[in-house]
Amino acid sequence: FRNQMMKSQKIELANHMSAAISHEVRNPLTAALGFLQLATEDISIQGKTKGYIETAINELHEAERVIKDYFTFAQPSLNEVNPFCVNEELKKVIKSLHPLANMNSVEVVTVINTECFIIGDRGLFRQCLLNIIKNSIEAMPNGGKLTVHSSNTKDEIRIRISDSGIGMSVEQVQRLGEPYYSTKGNKGTGLGLMVSLSIIRALKGNFHINSRIGLGTEFVVAFPSYFSDNLSPKSIHEVASG
Ligand code: ADP
Ligand code: MG
Repeated sequence: FRNQMMKSQKIELANHMSAAISHEVRNPLTAALGFLQLATEDISIQGKTKGYIETAINELHEAERVIKDYFTFAQPSLNEVNPFCVNEELKKVIKSLHPLANMNSVEVVTVINTECFIIGDRGLFRQCLLNIIKNSIEAMPNGGKLTVHSSNTKDEIRIRISDSGIGMSVEQVQRLGEPYYSTKGNKGTGLGLMVSLSIIRALKGNFHINSRIGLGTEFVVAFPSYFSDNLSPKSIHEVASG
């Protein structure tokens, strides 16, 4: 129980910090980028100095990307709440991860329902799935198979992400979602799953994880489905090798 308390306090703290970072760091960051951009257009700045400025721009872009990946979720007031097609959003996420999958020689198999709708902010949904699927690919540095499967019942839409990667121990699984918990050294932030799990809560979903060391991991995420009479669930199967 005490561990649980500490974990939720840590999550709360990280959420507050996220909000602060996204609000208070993003604007000056954008301003700094703008001024550096102006400097690159100044023809009197050449040679080494121009190179320094370009490097600074690239680094600031990287910082912007991190903020976008991890901290945008902390602005619920800006979020839209609309029904959206799960398949469409899932496909976008998978597409954006193809370069990473290719780099790790990961085969991507998708089995996705065509017409499943859930209600909420589609941007948050994408961010949630992106962080989970990215972890799956990163768990297979020497290749493997990633399967993204979605199915629906009348009440819920269920998304299963499985990998044939390194897997996790029971203790590791318990720590998932704890801010800054990462086994990736300086390549990880340990914030991805914290964000994903808070989005799952925000979208009124639930999740569970099956994992075995050396065999792989399966993430099952379920969301209440939004259904209208005009929509009849169909299912397509597609296999994409990447
Ligand atoms: P990060 O990816 O920056 O390390 P995350 O919050 O996304 O942070 O993940 C936390 C940790 O959970 C990872 O460092 C890894 O140890 C573990 N993990 C998450 N997903 C998987 C997976 N599919 N397979 C193995 N380990 C995983
Ligand atoms: Mg991650």
